[in-house]
Amino acid sequence: MSDGKSILVDTTRCTGCRGCQVACKQWNNLPGTETKQTGSYQNPPDASFETYKVVRFNEGRKEDGKPYWHFFSDMCRHCVNPPCVAAGDEIIHDDATGAVVYPKGNAKIDFDTALGVCPYNIPRKSEKSAEVSKCTMCLDRQQGGAKPACVLSCPTAMEFGERDEILKEVERRVAELKKNNPKAHAIDADDVRVIFIVEDDPKTYYEHAAAG
Ligand code: SF4
Ligand code: SF4
Repeated sequence: MSDGKSILVDTTRCTGCRGCQVACKQWNNLPGTETKQTGSYQNPPDASFETYKVVRFNEGRKEDGKPYWHFFSDMCRHCVNPPCVAAGDEIIHDDATGAVVYPKGNAKIDFDTALGVCPYNIPRKSEKSAEVSKCTMCLDRQQGGAKPACVLSCPTAMEFGERDEILKEVERRVAELKKNNPKAHAIDADDVRVIFIVEDDPKTYYEHAAAG
């Protein structure tokens, strides 16, 4: 396989607008999700069979007492060596891009295995059938020469491109951020294609933001 593609999500530039979340629904023709107020701006409260991407909102106080409000535009990381492919022969690990796709109508994918081995709590099961779903990295759009819909919709925080170019950009941005904040880093960059830049402990963004 070539180095394939990657997506950069720079949480330091995310405004929590959720345009990516809506773009994902639109492109993938996913229905609206019935939701409820949980005391947070996060909406819906979690990803689901019909919500591949959810912007997670987390607030709290830093060690110095100052408040933080973190936004984490959660999606499948398209692992470089995806453990979830063990969940079924139907799962596609695309040679050209590295995208990991669960095709529609995939009744033979074992949900418990897929979720059990995923370090980022991504796969979701249908309430009406045996199907499992998650972000496709917009492989269909990529094959037509277009960017993933979420990246295209984002005015500030997301980039898409060749993996080696994205890794260089990640390195450049982290070096810049570290000048003011030594905690700035990229999460699991060697192991995933969807690379998040954060400037605090990943757990202050989302409990499954980082593997392990
Ligand atoms: Fe599979 Fe989870 Fe990796 Fe996505 S993040 S490729 S679902 S193991
Ligand atoms: Fe949704 Fe495509 Fe973005 Fe994945 S890459 S979260 S499928 S819009």
